[in-house]
Amino acid sequence: MKIKQEQDKLVICPLCGGDAMYESEFTTQDGKVKTWLCMTCGFTSNTTMTLDSESLKQTLELTADFIKDLRKDHEPPGGGEMLAWFPTAITMPNKGMIFPEPIKGAGKEEWMWTVVKAIPIPEDEQYKYPDPTNPGTNYKNKMDMKNLKRYEKLCFMDAAEELGMFDRNLVEDAN
Ligand SMILES: [Zn+2]
Repeated sequence: MKIKQEQDKLVICPLCGGDAMYESEFTTQDGKVKTWLCMTCGFTSNTTMTLDSESLKQTLELTADFIKDLRKDHEPPGGGEMLAWFPTAITMPNKGMIFPEPIKGAGKEEWMWTVVKAIPIPEDEQYKYPDPTNPGTNYKNKMDMKNLKRYEKLCFMDAAEELGMFDRNLVEDAN
């Protein structure tokens, strides 16, 4: 649980060497947690993702095999205990989604960022899209799966721009 967010800063990504990795620090009930998201390669981790941690165990249970295969174990920026890193996946119900997707027929390491934008559901069709998290209400937007845009692995920033992540505070949304 987040209690207080300190100032974000940009650091060098230890995975791809890009100079636009967001580092954020939160004070939680269990102490300080740092999170990282690289705007070049799109990989993310945080200080709870140590290799024998409960956080990593839970993440692996919820993660698709293809993404598990992309896992990288690496020290955080500035050094420290080894952490597990994964490509991020972002869902913003009113804007859309970004997620890594394998390239069909290519090798395990061949994948791209896919951006899907949210489009409004016509009012007379909204009843077909019940929102399970808010019983009695319906979704007003849906993901436009017919119009995908794909970006190279090291172009996460372009994918994020396409989604409109920069219209509001990036790090707030990404977390
Ligand atoms: Zn990176």
